[in-house]
Amino acid sequence: MATGGGMMPGAPNQPAQPWRPGQGGPPPNTNDGDSEGDSGDEGPSEPQKFNDVNIPNYGNMGPVGQMSMLPPPPPPPAPSGPPPDMRFTEISVMGESDCRDAIIQFQSEHCCYGSAAAKEMVFSSCVPMTALHYTLETYAEARSTGYKSKPYRGEFVDGPENGQPPPPWAVPCEADQLFKNQVKLFEVPHTSFVKQCHGCRGRGWNQCRRCHGRGRVRCGACNGRGRKQVCDHEGNMHWHDCHSCQGGVRRCHQCGGDGRVTCRTCEGFGQLRAYVELKVEYKNHNDDYILEQTDMPDELIRDVGGKPVFEQTMPQVWPIMAYPVAEVNSNSQNLVEHHRRSFNDERKLMQRQILRAVPVTEVKWDWKDNKGRRFWAYGNERRVYCPDYPQQCCWGCEIL
Ligand SMILES: [Zn+2]
Ligand SMILES: [Zn+2]
Ligand SMILES: [Zn+2]
Repeated sequence: MATGGGMMPGAPNQPAQPWRPGQGGPPPNTNDGDSEGDSGDEGPSEPQKFNDVNIPNYGNMGPVGQMSMLPPPPPPPAPSGPPPDMRFTEISVMGESDCRDAIIQFQSEHCCYGSAAAKEMVFSSCVPMTALHYTLETYAEARSTGYKSKPYRGEFVDGPENGQPPPPWAVPCEADQLFKNQVKLFEVPHTSFVKQCHGCRGRGWNQCRRCHGRGRVRCGACNGRGRKQVCDHEGNMHWHDCHSCQGGVRRCHQCGGDGRVTCRTCEGFGQLRAYVELKVEYKNHNDDYILEQTDMPDELIRDVGGKPVFEQTMPQVWPIMAYPVAEVNSNSQNLVEHHRRSFNDERKLMQRQILRAVPVTEVKWDWKDNKGRRFWAYGNERRVYCPDYPQQCCWGCEIL
């Protein structure tokens, strides 16, 4: 199948020339084109539809610039058989001296906090614990298509007469890096055709909206009078000729006096080359679960270092089943199941699950009148969460 109605064959041998002001075309008529829609130059033009165009594999698309989502091919069956062997790494804890170093470091990072408390506070207990951070990522690809158009400058037009356009999911494309969001745009081969520009009806120009095609506008400096009243140093009023215009009108700066402006849609070429654009979006869907048993805010665990206990990357992961902490197993199952049911308008490419152990130690401390207070040291970085630090603000500095 070659062309549908309304298609114009490409004319690669005729070098196209854009319209320029003061060049070609009938003189502007101030009565013609005053109506909305003709001067598509100054505002957004109507979205163009190509209902009369028949591109194989690309029927029923929306107007230009509006992408429509494409359902992906059916997913492969879920993995079956026994899950791969999962081995979990042992985890380490922070002791009392680590916690002392951590609180001293914490104090030094807050310039107004006094150092005495950090050095002198008495630890009545140090309870090491482990927070667990499970993340599940599903890396998927969405494809959508829509018409795009560019000014036609006489270049080669690769239309359906050159071959069948590949269906959208058959266009080869790969992500540059797994688990990174990315967008790639392609012009689909054999989908181009040339059309008269809808923004100017093929003329290459539109009537200037500012002067309505007259090429001249009323002078703003003298309100069109051609003269201005000026007050001299003795307070007497005099009429002077306006320096900005001649007789109250001046040349329109929008069109340079021509009355017409170059069509922005076709940049003056009068014709557009339309084609199907394929948009490939790589999306990383990320969900996580934090098991943290102290009164410290759980989300602090998300951004600190820990030790990987288990990591797995494969097209479809098995949920963690055999970790000694039951909540981890059940939340892994829930998230894997949730991702299996989600993103169904995308093609799933790869999954990755990571279980990290993040050390957390809860320290109970006394310092002067502050009895039985707590802080938490957490992460490989030994960060400290200590909302009750006794020497905050600048009175801490005075003690020094
Ligand atoms: Zn004037
Ligand atoms: Zn003008
Ligand atoms: Zn145009």
